[in-house]
Amino acid sequence: MTFTNHSAEVYIPDNAKKGNKIYMALAAHQDDVEIMAADGILKGFAGKDSAFVAVVTTDGAGSARDGIYKNYSDEEMMKIRRAEQKKAAVVGEYKALYQLNYQSNAVKSPNNISIAEDYVKIIKKHKPVAVYTHNLLDKHNTHLGVAVKAVTAIRSLPKSERPKNLYGCEVWRNLDWLPDAEKTAFDLSPFENLQAALLGVFDSQISGGKRYDLATQGRRLSNATYSESHSVDNVKSLSYALDLTPLIKDDKLDIIDFALSKIEAFKKEAESKLKSVIVL
Ligand SMILES: [Zn+2]
Repeated sequence: MTFTNHSAEVYIPDNAKKGNKIYMALAAHQDDVEIMAADGILKGFAGKDSAFVAVVTTDGAGSARDGIYKNYSDEEMMKIRRAEQKKAAVVGEYKALYQLNYQSNAVKSPNNISIAEDYVKIIKKHKPVAVYTHNLLDKHNTHLGVAVKAVTAIRSLPKSERPKNLYGCEVWRNLDWLPDAEKTAFDLSPFENLQAALLGVFDSQISGGKRYDLATQGRRLSNATYSESHSVDNVKSLSYALDLTPLIKDDKLDIIDFALSKIEAFKKEAESKLKSVIVL
Protein backbone atom coordinates (compact mmCIF):
# COMPACT_ATOMS: atom_id res chain seq x y z
CA MET A 1 0.00 0.00 0.00
CA THR A 2 1.44 3.40 -0.91
CA PHE A 3 0.61 6.62 0.87
CA THR A 4 0.97 10.30 0.05
CA ASN A 5 3.99 10.76 2.35
CA HIS A 6 6.99 8.59 1.50
CA SER A 7 7.85 8.57 5.21
CA ALA A 8 4.50 6.96 6.10
CA GLU A 9 5.06 3.70 7.91
CA VAL A 10 3.14 0.49 8.49
CA TYR A 11 4.15 -1.50 11.54
CA ILE A 12 2.99 -5.05 12.19
CA PRO A 13 4.01 -6.17 15.69
CA ASP A 14 5.52 -9.68 16.01
CA ASN A 15 2.63 -10.59 18.29
CA ALA A 16 -0.05 -9.02 16.05
CA LYS A 17 -3.57 -10.41 16.49
CA LYS A 18 -4.85 -12.20 13.40
CA GLY A 19 -8.61 -11.59 13.86
CA ASN A 20 -10.91 -10.52 11.06
CA LYS A 21 -13.47 -8.49 13.00
CA ILE A 22 -11.63 -5.18 12.96
CA TYR A 23 -11.93 -2.22 15.29
CA MET A 24 -10.03 0.81 14.00
CA ALA A 25 -8.94 4.19 15.36
CA LEU A 26 -8.28 7.21 13.15
CA ALA A 27 -6.34 9.59 15.39
CA ALA A 28 -4.37 12.81 15.13
CA HIS A 29 -1.31 12.26 17.35
CA GLN A 30 0.72 9.48 18.88
CA ASP A 31 -1.03 8.54 22.19
CA ASP A 32 -4.50 9.78 21.09
CA VAL A 33 -5.44 6.24 20.06
CA GLU A 34 -4.73 4.91 23.56
CA ILE A 35 -6.47 7.87 25.24
CA MET A 36 -9.67 7.73 23.20
CA ALA A 37 -10.10 4.27 21.67
CA ALA A 38 -9.51 1.89 24.60
CA ASP A 39 -12.88 0.25 23.86
CA GLY A 40 -11.70 -0.79 20.39
CA ILE A 41 -8.24 -1.81 21.62
CA LEU A 42 -9.74 -4.06 24.31
CA LYS A 43 -12.30 -5.57 21.94
CA GLY A 44 -9.50 -6.33 19.50
CA PHE A 45 -7.30 -7.74 22.25
CA ALA A 46 -9.90 -9.93 23.96
CA GLY A 47 -12.24 -10.98 21.15
CA LYS A 48 -11.68 -14.44 19.67
CA ASP A 49 -11.76 -13.36 16.02
CA SER A 50 -11.21 -9.64 16.65
CA ALA A 51 -8.25 -7.34 16.14
CA PHE A 52 -7.43 -3.66 16.40
CA VAL A 53 -5.85 -1.38 13.79
CA ALA A 54 -4.44 2.05 14.73
CA VAL A 55 -3.92 4.99 12.40
CA VAL A 56 -1.90 8.02 13.57
CA THR A 57 -2.05 10.97 11.18
CA THR A 58 0.57 13.51 12.33
CA ASP A 59 4.35 13.29 12.60
CA GLY A 60 4.81 14.35 16.23
CA ALA A 61 7.15 17.19 15.25
CA GLY A 62 5.54 19.95 17.29
CA SER A 63 5.46 18.02 20.59
CA ALA A 64 6.26 19.71 23.89
CA ARG A 65 9.49 18.39 25.41
CA ASP A 66 11.15 18.41 28.81
CA GLY A 67 13.31 16.27 31.08
CA ILE A 68 15.62 13.93 29.16
CA TYR A 69 13.93 15.06 25.92
CA LYS A 70 14.48 18.78 26.55
CA ASN A 71 17.19 19.31 23.92
CA TYR A 72 15.83 16.91 21.31
CA SER A 73 15.40 18.31 17.81
CA ASP A 74 12.06 17.98 16.00
CA GLU A 75 13.58 15.13 13.99
CA GLU A 76 14.66 13.25 17.15
CA MET A 77 11.30 13.88 18.80
CA MET A 78 9.46 12.45 15.80
CA LYS A 79 11.55 9.28 16.04
CA ILE A 80 10.87 8.91 19.76
CA ARG A 81 7.15 9.41 19.32
CA ARG A 82 6.94 6.91 16.48
CA ALA A 83 8.84 4.38 18.59
CA GLU A 84 6.54 4.95 21.58
CA GLN A 85 3.50 4.38 19.38
CA LYS A 86 5.01 1.08 18.24
CA LYS A 87 5.51 0.05 21.88
CA ALA A 88 1.78 0.61 22.45
CA ALA A 89 1.02 -1.54 19.38
CA VAL A 90 3.05 -4.37 20.94
CA VAL A 91 1.38 -4.02 24.35
CA GLY A 92 -2.11 -4.01 22.79
CA GLU A 93 -1.27 -6.69 20.19
CA TYR A 94 -2.57 -4.46 17.38
CA LYS A 95 -3.02 -6.11 14.01
CA ALA A 96 -1.36 -3.11 12.35
CA LEU A 97 -0.25 0.42 13.10
CA TYR A 98 -0.16 3.10 10.38
CA GLN A 99 1.80 6.31 11.01
CA LEU A 100 1.02 8.68 8.13
CA ASN A 101 3.44 11.46 9.15
CA TYR A 102 1.49 14.53 8.09
CA GLN A 103 2.29 17.97 9.48
CA SER A 104 -0.44 19.39 11.71
CA ASN A 105 -1.13 22.15 9.18
CA ALA A 106 -2.11 19.60 6.56
CA VAL A 107 -4.58 18.01 8.98
CA LYS A 108 -6.10 21.37 9.86
CA SER A 109 -6.38 22.49 6.23
CA PRO A 110 -9.93 22.16 4.84
CA ASN A 111 -8.35 21.83 1.36
CA ASN A 112 -6.24 18.76 2.08
CA ILE A 113 -7.72 15.73 0.35
CA SER A 114 -4.82 13.27 0.54
CA ILE A 115 -5.39 12.41 4.22
CA ALA A 116 -8.94 11.20 3.52
CA GLU A 117 -7.56 9.28 0.50
CA ASP A 118 -5.01 7.55 2.75
CA TYR A 119 -7.77 6.70 5.25
CA VAL A 120 -9.85 5.19 2.44
CA LYS A 121 -7.01 2.84 1.44
CA ILE A 122 -6.64 1.62 5.03
CA ILE A 123 -10.40 1.23 5.57
CA LYS A 124 -10.76 -0.70 2.29
CA LYS A 125 -7.98 -3.07 3.31
CA HIS A 126 -9.20 -3.84 6.82
CA LYS A 127 -12.99 -3.32 6.50
CA PRO A 128 -13.51 -2.26 10.14
CA VAL A 129 -16.87 -2.86 11.81
CA ALA A 130 -16.35 0.22 13.99
CA VAL A 131 -14.14 3.30 13.71
CA TYR A 132 -13.15 5.51 16.66
CA THR A 133 -12.05 9.05 15.92
CA HIS A 134 -12.04 12.45 17.62
CA ASN A 135 -15.32 14.08 18.56
CA LEU A 136 -16.63 17.08 16.62
CA LEU A 137 -16.69 19.27 19.72
CA ASP A 138 -13.04 18.71 20.72
CA LYS A 139 -11.09 21.93 21.32
CA HIS A 140 -7.96 20.91 19.37
CA ASN A 141 -8.17 21.90 15.69
CA THR A 142 -5.93 19.03 14.57
CA HIS A 143 -8.38 16.62 16.22
CA LEU A 144 -11.30 18.30 14.43
CA GLY A 145 -9.43 18.03 11.13
CA VAL A 146 -9.04 14.27 11.62
CA ALA A 147 -12.70 13.80 12.60
CA VAL A 148 -13.96 15.66 9.52
CA LYS A 149 -11.56 13.81 7.20
CA ALA A 150 -12.68 10.50 8.75
CA VAL A 151 -16.30 11.33 7.88
CA THR A 152 -15.26 12.44 4.37
CA ALA A 153 -13.26 9.24 3.80
CA ILE A 154 -16.09 6.95 4.91
CA ARG A 155 -18.67 8.89 2.90
CA SER A 156 -16.61 8.34 -0.25
CA LEU A 157 -17.10 4.57 0.09
CA PRO A 158 -20.16 2.70 -1.16
CA LYS A 159 -22.58 2.13 1.74
CA SER A 160 -21.89 -1.61 1.71
CA GLU A 161 -18.19 -0.99 2.44
CA ARG A 162 -18.67 1.43 5.32
CA PRO A 163 -18.15 0.57 9.00
CA LYS A 164 -21.34 0.01 11.00
CA ASN A 165 -20.39 2.59 13.60
CA LEU A 166 -18.36 5.76 13.82
CA TYR A 167 -17.62 7.15 17.28
CA GLY A 168 -16.27 10.59 18.20
CA CYS A 169 -14.26 10.10 21.40
CA GLU A 170 -12.94 12.13 24.33
CA VAL A 171 -9.45 13.63 24.35
CA TRP A 172 -9.28 17.43 24.57
CA ARG A 173 -12.75 17.80 26.04
CA ASN A 174 -14.93 15.49 28.10
CA LEU A 175 -18.36 14.45 26.91
CA ASP A 176 -20.01 13.91 30.30
CA TRP A 177 -22.15 17.03 29.72
CA LEU A 178 -24.02 15.38 26.85
CA PRO A 179 -27.58 14.37 27.79
CA ASP A 180 -27.55 10.62 28.59
CA ALA A 181 -29.62 9.82 25.50
CA GLU A 182 -26.95 11.44 23.33
CA LYS A 183 -23.93 9.60 24.75
CA THR A 184 -22.40 6.31 23.88
CA ALA A 185 -20.77 4.83 26.99
CA PHE A 186 -17.96 2.30 26.76
CA ASP A 187 -17.42 0.07 29.78
CA LEU A 188 -13.66 -0.03 30.38
CA SER A 189 -13.74 -1.91 33.69
CA PRO A 190 -11.79 -4.97 32.49
CA PHE A 191 -8.03 -4.93 31.76
CA GLU A 192 -7.20 -1.94 33.96
CA ASN A 193 -3.59 -3.17 33.97
CA LEU A 194 -3.38 -3.26 30.19
CA GLN A 195 -4.91 0.22 29.90
CA ALA A 196 -2.30 1.56 32.34
CA ALA A 197 0.48 -0.03 30.30
CA LEU A 198 -0.91 1.36 27.02
CA LEU A 199 -0.98 4.89 28.43
CA GLY A 200 2.34 4.53 30.23
CA VAL A 201 4.58 3.90 27.21
CA PHE A 202 4.34 7.52 26.04
CA ASP A 203 7.15 8.67 28.29
CA SER A 204 8.18 11.64 26.15
CA GLN A 205 4.78 13.25 26.73
CA ILE A 206 4.37 12.27 30.36
CA SER A 207 7.92 13.32 31.35
CA GLY A 208 7.10 16.86 30.30
CA GLY A 209 4.85 17.03 33.36
CA LYS A 210 1.57 16.28 31.60
CA ARG A 211 0.24 13.15 33.32
CA TYR A 212 -1.95 12.03 30.45
CA ASP A 213 -1.76 8.50 31.85
CA LEU A 214 -3.27 9.43 35.23
CA ALA A 215 -5.63 12.04 33.77
CA THR A 216 -7.09 9.59 31.27
CA GLN A 217 -7.64 6.88 33.86
CA GLY A 218 -9.00 9.53 36.24
CA ARG A 219 -11.47 10.70 33.62
CA ARG A 220 -12.67 7.13 33.09
CA LEU A 221 -13.13 6.66 36.84
CA SER A 222 -14.90 10.01 37.11
CA ASN A 223 -17.23 9.19 34.22
CA ALA A 224 -18.20 5.91 35.88
CA THR A 225 -18.65 7.43 39.33
CA TYR A 226 -20.80 10.33 38.17
CA SER A 227 -22.75 8.39 35.58
CA GLU A 228 -26.50 8.43 36.14
CA SER A 229 -27.32 5.55 33.90
CA HIS A 230 -28.71 2.59 35.83
CA SER A 231 -27.39 0.15 33.29
CA VAL A 232 -23.81 1.02 34.22
CA ASP A 233 -24.14 1.09 38.02
CA ASN A 234 -21.51 -1.58 38.50
CA VAL A 235 -19.05 -0.13 36.03
CA LYS A 236 -15.76 1.09 37.45
CA SER A 237 -14.39 2.84 34.38
CA LEU A 238 -16.18 4.51 31.48
CA SER A 239 -15.33 6.52 28.42
CA TYR A 240 -17.87 8.47 26.44
CA ALA A 241 -18.31 9.07 22.75
CA LEU A 242 -20.56 11.09 20.53
CA ASP A 243 -22.15 8.65 18.10
CA LEU A 244 -21.20 9.98 14.66
CA THR A 245 -22.86 7.07 12.84
CA PRO A 246 -25.76 9.23 11.51
CA LEU A 247 -23.14 11.17 9.48
CA ILE A 248 -22.03 8.03 7.62
CA LYS A 249 -25.58 6.78 7.08
CA ASP A 250 -26.88 10.06 5.65
CA ASP A 251 -24.39 11.82 3.38
CA LYS A 252 -26.56 14.93 3.26
CA LEU A 253 -26.47 15.47 7.02
CA ASP A 254 -24.46 18.67 7.59
CA ILE A 255 -21.48 18.08 9.90
CA ILE A 256 -21.71 21.46 11.65
CA ASP A 257 -25.50 21.26 12.10
CA PHE A 258 -25.14 17.74 13.50
CA ALA A 259 -22.44 18.80 16.00
CA LEU A 260 -24.34 21.90 17.12
CA SER A 261 -27.57 19.90 17.57
CA LYS A 262 -25.82 18.12 20.46
CA ILE A 263 -25.17 21.45 22.18
CA GLU A 264 -28.80 22.36 21.52
CA ALA A 265 -29.89 19.10 23.20
CA PHE A 266 -27.72 19.99 26.22
CA LYS A 267 -29.17 23.51 26.30
CA LYS A 268 -32.73 22.15 26.26
CA GLU A 269 -31.97 19.71 29.07
CA ALA A 270 -30.31 22.41 31.20
CA GLU A 271 -33.23 24.79 30.59
CA SER A 272 -35.91 22.25 31.46
CA LYS A 273 -34.11 21.15 34.65
CA LEU A 274 -33.74 24.75 35.82
CA LYS A 275 -37.34 25.57 34.96
CA SER A 276 -38.50 22.61 37.03
CA VAL A 277 -37.01 24.15 40.20
CA ILE A 278 -37.87 27.82 39.64
CA VAL A 279 -41.29 29.42 40.12
CA LEU A 280 -41.99 31.15 36.82
ZN1 LIG B 1 -3.91 14.69 20.03
